[in-house]
Amino acid sequence: MARNWMVAAAVMVGMAAGVMPAAAQEAAPVCTHVRGASAEAQALVADGLRRSETIRSLVAALEASDVIVYVDMVYVARGPVAATSLTTANAAVRMLRVRISPILDADRALEILGHELQHAAEIAADARVRDAASLRAHSEAVGWATDASNDHFETKAAVSAERLVRCDLAGRPCADGGR
Ligand SMILES: [Zn+2]
Repeated sequence: MARNWMVAAAVMVGMAAGVMPAAAQEAAPVCTHVRGASAEAQALVADGLRRSETIRSLVAALEASDVIVYVDMVYVARGPVAATSLTTANAAVRMLRVRISPILDADRALEILGHELQHAAEIAADARVRDAASLRAHSEAVGWATDASNDHFETKAAVSAERLVRCDLAGRPCADGGR
């Protein structure tokens, strides 16, 4: 009996240390709409919540939306270092997948996480985005195509979010407000 209790306690302590870094214990963010698809991705999201006000506010916006984002640390085939795509949409929820290259260093991965979460927040704010065609229409309306195939789009706000995260990590405000 005593032995079992010890084991259970050890497991719980281990889990608490894993999800709640010491610096974030006072206000551990509750986050259910931005999920890491792997331990590595979960650690990236937790790191972003701890270190970047920009990421915290993007996650807060997503928490209040019908969008759930799965962050995965995988390559985008023949694509950029990261991408956000729509996986499913139903009456209750829209699922997005954010892929981030696994070879980026920790700070760069956070900048890119902020960039992609901004794309996710843009999609969350546009309830019409429900499939590939409406995602394309949305992307053309808020941004511009970055390649001839018209499969990748960029937005000013996402580029700005990436810069804001860089300033957050450096512990200083962006001189130009991130624009
Ligand atoms: Zn982008």
